[in-house]
Amino acid sequence: MKRNILITGGAGFIGSHVVRLFVNKYPDYHIINLDKLTYAGNLANLKDIEDKPNYTFVKADIADLDEMRRIIREYGIDGIIHLAAESHVDRSIKDPFTFARTNVMGTLALLQAAKEYWESLPEKYEGKRFYHISTDEVYGALELTNPEGIESPFTTAASSEHHHAYGTEFFLETTKYNPHSPYSASKASSDHFVRAYHDTYGMPTIVTNCSNNYGPYQFPEKLIPLFINNIRHRKPLPVYGKGENVRDWLYVVDHARAIDTIFHEGKIAETYNIGGFNEWKNIDIIKVIIKTVDRLLGNPEGYSDELITYVTDRLGHDMRYAIDSRKLQRELGWEPSLQFEEGIEKTVRWYLDNQEWMDNITSGDYERYYDDMYKNR
Ligand code: NAD
Repeated sequence: MKRNILITGGAGFIGSHVVRLFVNKYPDYHIINLDKLTYAGNLANLKDIEDKPNYTFVKADIADLDEMRRIIREYGIDGIIHLAAESHVDRSIKDPFTFARTNVMGTLALLQAAKEYWESLPEKYEGKRFYHISTDEVYGALELTNPEGIESPFTTAASSEHHHAYGTEFFLETTKYNPHSPYSASKASSDHFVRAYHDTYGMPTIVTNCSNNYGPYQFPEKLIPLFINNIRHRKPLPVYGKGENVRDWLYVVDHARAIDTIFHEGKIAETYNIGGFNEWKNIDIIKVIIKTVDRLLGNPEGYSDELITYVTDRLGHDMRYAIDSRKLQRELGWEPSLQFEEGIEKTVRWYLDNQEWMDNITSGDYERYYDDMYKNR
């Protein structure tokens, strides 16, 4: 079937994996990647597919309503997968307004432009879909009730062999929103607008909330690529607080596969949680990264442990996120493909094999940002 699919934020980390999957898997779809190319957007992430006939890149700002109207009409868009966002919690603490502008006003502009175009067509919302990608951070923080870790009551193919959970509570699709950071507050607001466009105008929307992603092409302000790059350059590894905070981790390609399944088979107006039942304390994940990098670089065992540097904790740092993704497994049959240790090995290898990609984005503005974030802490 021919379709015109708009993917926003396709030059970013997760977006580039979604664009690649759709362009390769669906030659009949025309994939339009719309991205403003902020510091986080990088067309080098898509070098391998940029010449494909079913792919078009458009540089635009989602908060520009007239541009969104023009682009959606020009390409006859019938499906939207919306990933464009400001995505880094630390940056949101320094500059919340940019997060409100892009994540809230940008999502609203996209919704409104899609609504106007789809309502102008004879078939209206028939066969249309507005799919919004969000985060588990909107649910707020869980307590670390079991700091030593317990056997996890649930597993997926992504669960690490260590099978730990650090509490018995998990976020469900029905969990009340309780965002704490400016980032999660802006994402929560955008989720509400998406649902409001369904409830008020009948727009066929879907929202998914996913846990932390890791894998190739992630901007090195985020923990895993930051640490791999710092080990390579023998730079300090800044750990917030005591490194006790817990996150659930999912390989980015498995998130992209979930997005594909949900875009095609998900029920309109539903929410799906996406995660791997794969909880890690930051400090433990850092140790796994050090071990893997040292092994692959031929460094002696534990050689890079000395780089660990504890820094002042992030303001309002949420203690534990743990997401229950059983609805997605049960209703749509999605399962992660990769076990965590395999995913980390693949990821570390990718960054070590693609040093040019890393070097190109870690000069200039990045150095200034880095000094500003971590100097004097
Ligand atoms: P990212 O920061 O790597 O990429 C964001 C992309 O959006 C960049 O290419 C950037 O240029 C683009 N963008 C930013 N502002 C824009 C604007 N005004 N107009 C058009 N494009 C703009 O982010 P990511 O980690 O790939 O996250 C993608 C989405 O997934 C976000 O909505 C994020 O909230 C969500 N999410 C991320 C994670 C994660 O672990 N990274 C987890 C769950 C959900």
